[in-house]
Amino acid sequence: MNNNSKTSILLIYTGGTIGMMRNSETGALENFNFDELIRHVPEIKQFNLNISSKAFNPPIDSSDMKPALWAELAKIIYDNYDQYDGFVVLHGTDTMAFTASALSFMLDGLMKPVILTGSQLPIGVLRTDGKENLLTAIEIAAAKNVDGTPIVPEVCIFFHQQLMRGNRSTKISAESFSAFSSNNYPILAKSGLEIQYNRNYIKPYDPNSKLTPHYAMDSDIIIFSLFPGIQPDIVRSVLVADGLKGIIFRTFGSGNAPQEQWLVDALTEATRMGKIIVNITQCSTGSVKMKLYETGRQLLDAGIISGGDLTVEAALTKLMNLLGRRLTPEQIRIEMRRNMAGEIS
Ligand code: ASP
Repeated sequence: MNNNSKTSILLIYTGGTIGMMRNSETGALENFNFDELIRHVPEIKQFNLNISSKAFNPPIDSSDMKPALWAELAKIIYDNYDQYDGFVVLHGTDTMAFTASALSFMLDGLMKPVILTGSQLPIGVLRTDGKENLLTAIEIAAAKNVDGTPIVPEVCIFFHQQLMRGNRSTKISAESFSAFSSNNYPILAKSGLEIQYNRNYIKPYDPNSKLTPHYAMDSDIIIFSLFPGIQPDIVRSVLVADGLKGIIFRTFGSGNAPQEQWLVDALTEATRMGKIIVNITQCSTGSVKMKLYETGRQLLDAGIISGGDLTVEAALTKLMNLLGRRLTPEQIRIEMRRNMAGEIS
C-alpha cells in the first residue's frame, strides 16, 4: 500500500505456466500458489518499492480465461487505482494478448501502467524465462518521468526483452522464449543493459484523464475465417444465426473475399439484420484496404466495416466491449473505426 512516498506496485497473479510445476505422477503442469511462486524470486525484495499482491483463487490456466474474469481483473485494478502507481498482471501466455486487449478497452481513461507478463518455462525451472520477465515488468510498471508521471501509462505486455502495446500484441510461438510480437506497431521499449523506451510511440500522459471502467463484454460474436472452397450453406447458417450480434471476418490479403454473389447476399442480409461485420486480414502484418480490389469493394457495399490493421484479439475484444456498452449498431460501426486505445492505425 502507498503509505509512504515509495512507489507502490500491485502484483496480480492469475495463473499460467509461470506459476506451475510438474505433477510427478502425470507429468502435466499444474498451478501452485502465489507465495510459492514468489519464493522462487527472492530478488523482488531488492526493489526499493512497496509491492503488494492479489491472486485469483484458484489460479487458472489462461485457456480458461473468460469475460467474467476480465471483469474481475479490471475491477481489481479500478478498486486499487488510487493506492498504486502501477500494476503487474501475471498471466498464462495462451490468451494473454486477448486479456491485454480486453483490459485496454475496459479500462477507459487509464493513465497508469498495467503490465502483463508470464513465461514459457515455470519459475521453478532452472532455465526459466519467468524471473527476468517478472522483474523487468515490475521495473517498467514502477518507471516514472522526472516530473513523477508514469513512463508507460497504458496496458502492455512485457515478454522476452520487449515491451509491446497490449492491444497490438499476438502470441506467435508455442516454444520460443520470444513468444509475442507486435506486428503492426513498434515496440514500446527494449530491455538490455538498460530499458530503452521508445517514447514517441508510448501513449502520452494526460493529467485530466479519468479512469472509467466498462466491465460488460458481450460475447455473442464469432471469429469467422475464409478459405478457398468455403461452402455457401455453412456460411449462410453462421451469418444469420439467432443471437449472433457480430462477426470478426478474417479475409484474404488486404481484405478480399471470393467474388461470389451468394457470399455478398449472405453478408448483406446479415448487416441488414443489424449484425456488425468487421473485416480483418488473415495476414499477420498489414492492413485491410477494401477499396484496393473489386473483391474488397463488394464487401464494403455489403455493409462490412474495415478493421484496418487490428489484430484478431483487438478486433474481438473491441467489438465485445462496444456491444457491452449497449450502443446502437450505427454507433458501434463508428466506434469500431475510431482509435479508442491505440489499437488501430
Ligand atoms: N497454458 C498456459 C497458459 O496459458 C501456457 C502459458 O502460460 O505459457 O496458462
